[in-house]
Amino acid sequence: MQGEMEDKCGIVGIHSKDDSKDVASLIYYCLYALQHRGQESAGIASFNPTIGLNHYCGMGLITDVFSNERIQSLPGHMAIGHVRYSTTGQSKLENSQPFVTDFGDGFIAMAHNGDIVNSGELRQELIDEGFYFKSDSDSEVICYMLKKEHYDNDKNVIDSIEAVCKKLVGSYALTILVDGELYGVRDPMGIKPLAVAKRDDDFVLASETVAFDVINAEYIRDIVPGEIIYFENDEINSHMLESAGKCKLSHCMFEYVYFARPDSTIDGINVYETRMNIGKQLHELYPIDADVVIPVPDSSIPAAIGYSRASGIPYGEGLIKNRYVGRTFIMPTQEERELAVRLKLNPIKKAIKGKKIILIDDSIVRGTTSKQLLDLVKEAEPAEIHFLVGCPPVIAPCYYGVAMATKKELIAANYSIEEIQEQLNIDSLGYITLPALVKAIGMPEENLCMGCLNEDYPTEIPEGLEAETYYKP
Ligand code: AMP
Repeated sequence: MQGEMEDKCGIVGIHSKDDSKDVASLIYYCLYALQHRGQESAGIASFNPTIGLNHYCGMGLITDVFSNERIQSLPGHMAIGHVRYSTTGQSKLENSQPFVTDFGDGFIAMAHNGDIVNSGELRQELIDEGFYFKSDSDSEVICYMLKKEHYDNDKNVIDSIEAVCKKLVGSYALTILVDGELYGVRDPMGIKPLAVAKRDDDFVLASETVAFDVINAEYIRDIVPGEIIYFENDEINSHMLESAGKCKLSHCMFEYVYFARPDSTIDGINVYETRMNIGKQLHELYPIDADVVIPVPDSSIPAAIGYSRASGIPYGEGLIKNRYVGRTFIMPTQEERELAVRLKLNPIKKAIKGKKIILIDDSIVRGTTSKQLLDLVKEAEPAEIHFLVGCPPVIAPCYYGVAMATKKELIAANYSIEEIQEQLNIDSLGYITLPALVKAIGMPEENLCMGCLNEDYPTEIPEGLEAETYYKP
């Protein structure tokens, strides 16, 4: 069975009590700050009491999709937004979000970050009842389920969300705009992040706190796992799902390792500090004698600084990243793929030649990037290469939205560390250990989801569910 669309994305929502105000431009800036969470498509839905709901989605980066005119065409004091991440799955406009459909006398718009592992089954139930699907996305499934609860069982929005969440297995952080009200929902395991902030009299919901910083909103708190929040009487109102507090917390460790921006704080833990700690832990595990500690830019910079500070070995740049190379272009031939790597990263030969280097990367997933990267580094003729990795060996797929890869593609699922070191042809290879990573994050191990590292998944995984691979040239 083919897996449903995986959605490792960024979501936003803004609620203003002033209905003469337009908030789409603020959503745009928030999405801009969350662009690292998805580059495949972007979309905004807004609500204005006289005009109703408007929305626009397009393929590409937020700046490609939204011109000033487009933003002006999205009036309203409430809005939600979404940036979608690219996987090797279907890349098409219909899968872009927010997803919008009719709801009672009005409309519902939803932005979803996560992956519903039983959505195949839930989708089939809806199809059997006559629902017609436009996309492969889980958001469409959730929207129709809400619609069904609302129509068939005459439930209000909160009760409909509660009833639907009971049936969902998997990860979900949602921003929902319905009948001129904004709701934020976080799954009871807290797999995906979602936080709330205030900007003057407006409330802002976002996947990461960096979105608050850019629009000068003041972080209030993270949404509690299993919580629905909505805004009434200038207050944050909260409804806890029945399942809240009854299941194991399972915050995704990969947000801290790679995915989130270092200037974000998730569930009270600063991502930059965690990555510095990862560097410190790597030093405790592998106290190597070297001339320089070099990060693979950008995501490994804090870990390299952490290693450097802990060891006293100077930190140095050795690879320069071209920031203008997008992630979403396909290179059909091997030659072109190699060229793409060179376009993206170039070694500073002078900084590497003749030196014993410690190279730090955030993770090895399929191993293709590391091989190409190390080939480039070797051309600069270092005396020794010690490669340290800030994530323990990824041995299993993620079914909750981080499209890692299938098991047969994951290098650490198929080879031992010694074999990988041999394949990479380097002087040493060291992965952070699971306990050291837990220490670096600083959260109890039982509150983290580390399914891709230990196959201990927080939910049942339906038989035959296939994992997706992320796309990267
Ligand atoms: P590879 O081993 O070739 O799959 O590439 C691993 C590198 O890709 C890591 O160092 C990260 O920088 C990045 N990466 C890891 N996981 C993901 C993911 N799920 N989506 C996008 N990039 C990723």
